[in-house]
Amino acid sequence: MENLDWQNLGFGYRDSDYNIRCYYRNGKWGELEISSSNTINMHMAATALHYGQEAFEGLKAFKGKDGKIRIFRMDENAKRMENSSKGILMAQLPVEKFTEAVRLAVKMNKRFVPPHDSGASLYIRPLLIGTGPEIGVKPAKEYLFIVFVMPVGPYFPEGFKPTDLVIMRDHDRAAPLGTGKYKVGGNYAASMDAGKLAKEQGFSAVLYLDSREKKYVDECGPANFFGIKNNTYVTPLSDSILPSITNKSLMTLAEEMGLKVERRKVPYEELESFEEIGACGTAAVISPIKGIYDADNDTWFRYGKEPGEWSVKLYNKLRAIQYGDEPDKYGWTEIAE
Ligand SMILES: *Cc1c(COP(=O)(O)O)cnc(C)c1O
Repeated sequence: MENLDWQNLGFGYRDSDYNIRCYYRNGKWGELEISSSNTINMHMAATALHYGQEAFEGLKAFKGKDGKIRIFRMDENAKRMENSSKGILMAQLPVEKFTEAVRLAVKMNKRFVPPHDSGASLYIRPLLIGTGPEIGVKPAKEYLFIVFVMPVGPYFPEGFKPTDLVIMRDHDRAAPLGTGKYKVGGNYAASMDAGKLAKEQGFSAVLYLDSREKKYVDECGPANFFGIKNNTYVTPLSDSILPSITNKSLMTLAEEMGLKVERRKVPYEELESFEEIGACGTAAVISPIKGIYDADNDTWFRYGKEPGEWSVKLYNKLRAIQYGDEPDKYGWTEIAE
């Protein structure tokens, strides 16, 4: 793919050559199938369409200086999708089937993996949907699992840039005992209105407080929250946030770098005491935050205009492991064929 402008791909849907599919019928999963079509044919009464039986994942593959392609922590994504499936009563795809499909999707679309020095990567999107027809509210008897991929540009084409978040108390992403901890489309539908309002006002995302009391920090729309102060990495413990694999990896690296790591409730009042704030997820690894605007109280929490020292270190370290520039001592990457 010599003629792709890797640096300026952004994050948008783009066709690749093949996608991998697997059907669940008659109580069991079939063999993996390779498809070159970007459409699916499905029953109009599929539960995914009516009752939100849908879960997805997002992970990336990176090309190293050595030319090898590394897939980052896909076993974690496989387990998380299993958990999401349990949460909304979908058939659970075995971890091995998930990882086999991801490997195959990467292998079949090798020419879309961006070169090492571009800062771009291959985004991998696994998807599980209820395809069986039901009109009463109950789980489908048939499911379809798909993995497709697309090259995406570097998240920060102009360098690691801090942005602002906004707190809105009149919108919730997930209920306290709802589906916030599952990676399901319903949570995203619930967050679109607030996300759009935030963007229109110049914020990169909404910072959600816990929806029961609005006393504690939950997470950003599509990314986990962390704050750093007094050599401590602090990230919220809550039943309604999605357990981010990036956050999990950053906690490990933070500890290795000598930071204390705390996973606990983070009271709203504590926001003013952090030295650094970041939003973390597969897309950006870390998106540094320079300000949080509380729309209801018309107040600002301000952080550095430039990314903080620890955020930069953590970001560089995780990226170096992903691209194979530093040893992968935790065994987080798998070299693709
Ligand atoms: C996917 C996701 C994240 C980030 O998870 P990663 O595994 O780090 O990509 C954070 N919050 C929500 C709501 C998500 O859906």
